[in-house]
Amino acid sequence: MSDSKIPLAGVIGHPIAHSKSPNVHNYWIRKYGLKGHYVPIDIDPEKIKDMLPRLADLGFVGANVTIPYKETVMDIADLITDRATLIGAANTLIFRKDGRIHADNTDGYGFIENIRQTVPDWTPTSGPAVVFGAGGAARAVIASLIDVGVPTIMLTNRTRIRAEKLRDDFGQRVQVVEWVQAGNVLEDADLVVNTTSLGMTGKTEMRVPLDGLRPGIIVNDLVYSPLRTRLLATAEERGCKTVDGLGMLLHQAVPGFERWFGKRPVVDENVRAAVLR
Ligand code: NAP
Repeated sequence: MSDSKIPLAGVIGHPIAHSKSPNVHNYWIRKYGLKGHYVPIDIDPEKIKDMLPRLADLGFVGANVTIPYKETVMDIADLITDRATLIGAANTLIFRKDGRIHADNTDGYGFIENIRQTVPDWTPTSGPAVVFGAGGAARAVIASLIDVGVPTIMLTNRTRIRAEKLRDDFGQRVQVVEWVQAGNVLEDADLVVNTTSLGMTGKTEMRVPLDGLRPGIIVNDLVYSPLRTRLLATAEERGCKTVDGLGMLLHQAVPGFERWFGKRPVVDENVRAAVLR
């Protein structure tokens, strides 16, 4: 692509109409007066392997990736960052000028930056974290918690074997706790993170007993629809510091935006409002 072309980026998924990423990126493009467009791209599963490499020919400089392609794109990319390899999934692609596709995962970065921005005095090394869930998001969360020095991660998941797989992949700092015992380990936690889809609009409500949440600890829900989940509402009532999931969505978008459009965007109340509108 010649440098005079207007850069295009987008989010690839199936379905994709629900994605908030276009609101985020197009808000920043307007805010900073940049040239560029960011669009939702719905690709059928049987076409993803053929279509992905062709996006660069159409003028795309990169793309975010969402359900169900975060793992699929790892087989198509030519270069994969260490953190994407560790997590086993990518959410950010760069279509390089030499034709190669570069895959990265910025979910863990977004997760950590969101907590740091909301709770600036967070000391990750101060004590254990409890993580609910062992899906794709949990892998990014656990990798980054280990990276910032959280000493112990108590991991609990409805399907125990998935949690055990994560412990095998990430090592002994991860301890598996029975799903039915999840409420009992909360009193040991300095940080509690929900990475399950429980509490999401239209999904089952989180039913883990929350009496063990101590005042002053940090409780983060990755679910951002609704913004104030039952977990966060209860945590707030118990005097915890709450962190919603929208901030992670915004922060994980920062590295891709900077790479594609040449400006590092700021995550603030205005972009939150633009996404919630
Ligand atoms: P995933 O790979 O499909 O994993 C889903 C997780 O939820 C698994 O641990 C699953 O447990 C658990 N779960 C689902 N239904 C359950 C139920 N009825 N009871 C108990 N556990 C249940 O999905 P994901 O990609 O990790 O995403 C998980 C959540 O994180 C979604 O709500 C997603 O929107 C959110 N997320 C937010 C951000 C953000 O930027 N804020 C980023 C990524 C993801 P089993 O293993 O037992 O099935």
